[in-house]
Amino acid sequence: MFFREITGLEDIKHTLIGAVQKGQIAHAQLFFGNEGSASLAMALAYATYINCENEQEDDACGQCAACRKINKLIHPDVHFVFPVAATKKVSKDPLSENFLPEWRTFLKDHVYAPLSDWCNFIATENRQPNISAEESRSIIRKLSLKAYEAEYKVLILWLPELLNNSSANALLKILEEPPPKTVFLLVSQNIDKLLTTILSRTQLIKIRAFNNQEIWQVLVDNAGVEAKRAAQIAYLSDGNLQEALRLSKEAVNDNHVLFRDWMRFCFKANFTELVAYTEMFAKMSKEGQKSLLLYGLEMLREALVSPYKEARLVRLEGEELTFAEGFSKVLTQAKAESLYNQLNEACFHLERNGSAKIIFLDTSLAIAGIIKSV
Ligand SMILES: [Zn+2]
Repeated sequence: MFFREITGLEDIKHTLIGAVQKGQIAHAQLFFGNEGSASLAMALAYATYINCENEQEDDACGQCAACRKINKLIHPDVHFVFPVAATKKVSKDPLSENFLPEWRTFLKDHVYAPLSDWCNFIATENRQPNISAEESRSIIRKLSLKAYEAEYKVLILWLPELLNNSSANALLKILEEPPPKTVFLLVSQNIDKLLTTILSRTQLIKIRAFNNQEIWQVLVDNAGVEAKRAAQIAYLSDGNLQEALRLSKEAVNDNHVLFRDWMRFCFKANFTELVAYTEMFAKMSKEGQKSLLLYGLEMLREALVSPYKEARLVRLEGEELTFAEGFSKVLTQAKAESLYNQLNEACFHLERNGSAKIIFLDTSLAIAGIIKSV
């Protein structure tokens, strides 16, 4: 990973690069960012920059032996520790090093992914992953050796919140008295769950969530998503890049995702989200707004006929059909008709150039009310 591969966050990159250039690399740093943020990507890019043999003003060179090895996650002085659990492959006392091949493959596509994706990837089934005390002892053994070829030994520890008490205590000792030229990069998604003793021994690097513009950029530039759809996904993913990438691969149409989530928030009477949705709808083109409402009308028609499947009137499949069926189960005939009238009315007012913001907000509140009514 290189800094140039991470969209945006220039201020953080600047700070990290400046520390290396000034020779002020703190020995224990805590990269904290929510799920789907660049915290792990940033730690990887930083580890590369620290050990690059020909570092440039704004990034590692990408050409030297160190860059190439770190990029393939095979550098002997860059160590990884991450949560693991027993699997079919390693059924007893699993350690990170048992899963390094999987880790390398995983990070190629999942550097923004949450723990659950990693657990699925190595098939821990329902076993709770953690970082064991034995793992901490193995860290200490590895780091007490001299560096093989780099100036700095780097340990990237993903999700220190999953250290248990005894493993955290073992690790604390080495954090307090680190071997020379050793850098600990802890990457956390939940610092509230971290022991304060660990927090107090690390320098906090806060990685803010990606903003909509940055997510849009990644989707358009790297994932080949069409600009308008990218804007919708950016909004829906709420700063979580992994979620955005996942949504971009979903083969359902945009109106479906928007309508489905809109209805879910109406059901939950989640007014904060409904106001946010209203604002998003208001920013769409008039054509887009109308097409969303028409789609909603169509879904309601389908939901109304889906109990009478024999008639084979249902033209939906996949995720849309599942939604229509679920929808028809929770709505009585009368409620479905009221919803239908609300959407029809919204269309009518939109065509007469009413304020989209007011129309969508009124409609949301009316729908929430209909759903709640008995
Ligand atoms: Zn290099």
